[in-house]
Amino acid sequence: MPPKTLPFTNEQLERILEEHPTPFHIYDEAGIRESARALNKAFDWDIGYKNYFAVKALPNPQVLRILREEGMGADCSSLPELMLAETVGMRGEEIMFTSNGTPASEYEHAKNLHAIINLDDISHINFFERNVGELPPLLSFRYNPGSAREGNVIIGKPEEAKYGLTTGQITEAYKIVKEKGVKHFGLHTMVISNELREDYFIETARMLFSLAAEISEEAGIDFEFINLGGGLGIPYRPEQDALNLEKISWGVKNAKAEFLEPAGLEPKIVTECGRFVTGPHGYLVTKVLHVEHKYRDYVKVDATMANLMRPALYGAYHHITVLGKEDMPEINVYDVTGSLCENNDKFAIQRPLPLIEPGDTLIIHDTGAHGHAMGFNYNGKLRSAELLLREDCSVKQIRRQETPKDYFATLEPL
Ligand SMILES: *Cc1c(COP(=O)(O)O)cnc(C)c1O
Repeated sequence: MPPKTLPFTNEQLERILEEHPTPFHIYDEAGIRESARALNKAFDWDIGYKNYFAVKALPNPQVLRILREEGMGADCSSLPELMLAETVGMRGEEIMFTSNGTPASEYEHAKNLHAIINLDDISHINFFERNVGELPPLLSFRYNPGSAREGNVIIGKPEEAKYGLTTGQITEAYKIVKEKGVKHFGLHTMVISNELREDYFIETARMLFSLAAEISEEAGIDFEFINLGGGLGIPYRPEQDALNLEKISWGVKNAKAEFLEPAGLEPKIVTECGRFVTGPHGYLVTKVLHVEHKYRDYVKVDATMANLMRPALYGAYHHITVLGKEDMPEINVYDVTGSLCENNDKFAIQRPLPLIEPGDTLIIHDTGAHGHAMGFNYNGKLRSAELLLREDCSVKQIRRQETPKDYFATLEPL
C-alpha cells in the first residue's frame, strides 16, 4: 500500500501549530503546481489545451493566482466566482462560465467580462436575448447524454441530472444560434466525478467528438473548442492508484484522430478539472478534544463537518494521520467526529487508528477540493482559516478564521 505522504515534517507542523490555532486547512503550493504541470504536460500535443480550474473546488484568489501562473483559466458558475477570477486579472477566454439555473444578472456579468458562456438549456437562448441582449459571438452548450452514459455515485445518472441539453435538442440549439448570428462554437459535457477509471474519461471524449462531427455536419458549423469537463479522480484511499494521465491523453488523442479529423474539425481540447489539481494538496489539521467510550469509542475533534462535509455527504473516505503516532499499530477502532448536533458529523466511522489521547493532532488528508469551500455555519460553527505552505516552506495565511462577529454580520440589530 503506498503510504499517504505529508508535505511537511512533524517539526514543521509543530511550529505552524504554535502560530495558528486549529482547525485549519493547509495547502501545499508545490504539490498544486506539480499537478497543474502534469495535466498540462499530458495534453501538450494540443497547443490550445487549457484547464479551466473549477473555482468551486478551492475558491481562494491566492490559489487561483498560482493556477493562472501555471496557464490555467477559471471555470465559474456564479457571480462571486466570476469576481474571484477577476481579482487575479482573468478576463475573456480565460474564464468559462458553466452554470445552471442562471440568473440574467450573472449572464450579463459574464458577457461584460467576455467570458466564454456555456448555456445549460435550450430555453436559455431566448432567456439570454430577452434579459441580457445580443448573444455573444462565441457560444457553447452543455450536453447531457441521458441513458447513453451511466454516471457514478457522486454525480448521479445523466438521465436523472438537471444539467445540459438532450440528444434531441443539441443540434437544433446550434442551428438556432447560428441563425441568430453566433459565429464560433464550443461543446461541453460533464458526466463523471472523482472517476479513477481512465477509460471512462476516454469514453466521454469519444462520445463528445463523435457528437461534434455529427452536429458539425447537420448544422454546418465548426467547433472552436470541445470541453471535456472535470471529474478526474484522486486516490483518497491509500490502496488506490493515481490516474494514469498519459493513458487518458493517448485515448483522447486517438479519439480526436478517429472522429474529428475525418470531419475536418480541429477544435482545442479543454477541461474543467478542480479536484485533480488541488484535492490531494490540502490537509485539515484538527486537535482532539475528547476521547469518549460509549457503545463505540469516539474521538471528538475541534473541526466539524462545517469544515469538511464530504464524509457526511457522500460517505467519502478521507485518510487520517495522527501526528507523531505514524508508526504505532492501528489497533483501536474509532468514530472520529465533530461537535455538531448531527450524528452524521463524522470524519471517519469505525476507523482503525493508533491509540488516541486528548491533545493529539489529527491530519485529515485530501481536503484541497470541496473541503473548506463547502463549509457552512449551522450550529453556530465558524469556518476555519486557510493556510498556504509556500515552495520555500514558509506559511502564509490566505484566509483568516471566522469570528462570532462574522456570524452576526448579516443580522439586523435588535
Ligand atoms: C464541479 C464541476 C467541475 C469540476 O469537477 P471536479 O470533479 O472538481 O474536476 C467542472 N465542471 C463543472 C460544470 C462542475 O460543476
